[in-house]
Amino acid sequence: MSRVYNFSAGPAALPLEVLETIQNDIPDWNGTGMSVMEVSHRSKEFVELAARCETNLRELLAIPDDYSVLWTQGGATLQMAMVPLNLAGPDDTVDYVQTGSWGKKALGEAQKFANARLIADASDRNFTYIPDESTWDRSDDARYLHITSNETIAGVEYHQLPGGDVPIVSDMSSTILSRPIDVSGYGAIYAGAQKNIGPAGITLAIVRNDLLEPQRDNLPHLMMWKSYAESDSMTNTPPTFAWYVADLVFQYLQDMGGLDAMAEINQRKSEKLYAAIDGSDLYSNPVDKHCRSWMNVPFILADASLDAAFLEESKAAGLANLKGHRSVGGMRASIYNAVPEAAVDALIEFMAEFERKNG
Ligand SMILES: *Cc1c(COP(=O)(O)O)cnc(C)c1O
Repeated sequence: MSRVYNFSAGPAALPLEVLETIQNDIPDWNGTGMSVMEVSHRSKEFVELAARCETNLRELLAIPDDYSVLWTQGGATLQMAMVPLNLAGPDDTVDYVQTGSWGKKALGEAQKFANARLIADASDRNFTYIPDESTWDRSDDARYLHITSNETIAGVEYHQLPGGDVPIVSDMSSTILSRPIDVSGYGAIYAGAQKNIGPAGITLAIVRNDLLEPQRDNLPHLMMWKSYAESDSMTNTPPTFAWYVADLVFQYLQDMGGLDAMAEINQRKSEKLYAAIDGSDLYSNPVDKHCRSWMNVPFILADASLDAAFLEESKAAGLANLKGHRSVGGMRASIYNAVPEAAVDALIEFMAEFERKNG
């Protein structure tokens, strides 16, 4: 077996311990004589899995009792439509802060279904900052305020929750479970699984119970948060395998010491990588220091003609998927929970050596 260090932005690395458990479980899961893919989602064993999964997630994130945990399909992208469909009527106003490509996409979806207003926009500086809250042009009557806690492409992360009384809705796809958060500060949180939760195919939504009632009629069953809340997310056949892996990931995070422990590791990983970038002449990261992401670290090379060699040599050194998003160029190291500190150390060492040879 030969595992590389995988810096993919998503689908992303999973903990080796989890992969080994899956491998062992496949032929005979939990004494059923079947794989987990072959059992009914209504079986006693699977219902138990779902309950344990929620209990562990609630403990990890300290989710208050007046919030529902929902598992949907369609990724974070479908939630971008479900948010305005559930929380607003067609004539209601909703506020969006755009600090990157995902926030822009969320705004575009909301504009189809509500009076969605762009109240702050970081596109003028290529999504490298979060506009100061004092400059946000907030509506008086917004049903909610939408933010993207961590912009995966440019690597911009809120390290502090915005203020105000309006329910905050956040796309946390690439930051959820990287650190403790105060769930009670949000009206709703959503996240595709394939960064910090598990495999693609399942999506998490955490919704305050008083926001579950849809604000318009005739929504399709599968577009209503409420139908997931009322059916323990078994309104139709759920993605059972992805759910099973998420459960294993949560158990792994509990074994690691929970989110306080993960935050400490994640902060250390990102700070040493940013320090290496800032201390070099070859590499740079353009994001304002106070909102740099702990999870996605983009960097460019001073001489872009070295990009191809950097990618080829890093790959040969067992450092996979470092190519940056095409809209930013250069490199990006996504260093989610399952990317060990040793991977970051190896990357920093490789970068220094590459600079010595080419700088
Ligand atoms: C990956 C990502 C998405 C897209 O998620 P899908 O599950 O593919 O729909 C949306 N928002 C953010 C912040 C992401 O990182």
